[in-house]
Amino acid sequence: MFKYVRVQMLYPCLAKCFWCNTYPKNSQFARFYQSGISRQVHQFYAEVIRALQPHEVFLSGGEPLLYPDLPWFLNAIKDATKRIHLFTSFQFSAAAWYQIPFGQLPLGKMTLNHTVLYFEPERWHTLAAGFPFDVYLENLRACLHLSVRKRFKFIVNHSAFQEELERFQVLVMPDQYCELGLKIINTQGDGLNRAVIQQTRDLVNQRARVLDRLVEHAEWAKVQRRASSLDLMASVLAEGDVVQCPYRQDPLELRLAFFRATAEDVILKYRYCPYFPSRFSHRFHIRHDDPQKMEKNFYKGTFRDHCTECRFLQYVATLPKTESDNEGPNDQ
Ligand code: SF4
Repeated sequence: MFKYVRVQMLYPCLAKCFWCNTYPKNSQFARFYQSGISRQVHQFYAEVIRALQPHEVFLSGGEPLLYPDLPWFLNAIKDATKRIHLFTSFQFSAAAWYQIPFGQLPLGKMTLNHTVLYFEPERWHTLAAGFPFDVYLENLRACLHLSVRKRFKFIVNHSAFQEELERFQVLVMPDQYCELGLKIINTQGDGLNRAVIQQTRDLVNQRARVLDRLVEHAEWAKVQRRASSLDLMASVLAEGDVVQCPYRQDPLELRLAFFRATAEDVILKYRYCPYFPSRFSHRFHIRHDDPQKMEKNFYKGTFRDHCTECRFLQYVATLPKTESDNEGPNDQ
């Protein structure tokens, strides 16, 4: 059954990143935390994870690191999986950082994941809605003192990819607990950054074929570059054919996120890969549905009808020229 399970923790983050469409839900997530809905959803996640026993679990948010009940949640799932990844923005005060109860967390099983964006103070400052770069940098440096794995992901769409990697090495000085990851730009926000994606797809296409070469000068990567969905999609890239996609063939990934709460129920949405068109997902009613529905729907297979709009192909394929292509390359 599903090798990877990814869940969205319903707890607000403190960041306002330009590229993210989740932070507008912060006030809603704060209400859910106060009313107990977050706990109810997280309890359901824990039951799903214990039933599926996935190799790896990924916690997005909100901001999982700041969730006060994080020790309860991680200790409830730690024996059901080999590794727990937490996504964090590192955008919070030093005081907030020192309040995180790391001593109560299963650090040996955890990896802190973070996507690095440009790592150039002025540009980053604009994209992060004014969050001070020096505070962000101090948090990154502080996490190096923790005996926990960290994974820093760099976006291959960026023309200045090598410079970002070099700046990060100089300013953060990653150690042997740091892993290096790669990703292509995220289109959260139903089309946000679509223009950037279209303008950079040829570059991504070239780079996705030589991922290891991209990072061979990263001296801090004592641990090998970690494989990602980009590597999993190599066969689709080579053939241009979605039928080759590993996410379609076997139940590889289950992604659960919040959809809606009513007086009667809490409704989640779920998908089976990172690249479904953003307007498509299945629904799961926590109080009424049988969790086996998520497995059954994988085999029923109607989701595959949407693979013609696979976002991975939009990211990397050489598509027919559009008007925005004629504006020339323009990094985000
Ligand atoms: S949308 Fe793309 S990545 Fe997702 S299952 Fe279909 S072909 Fe695979």
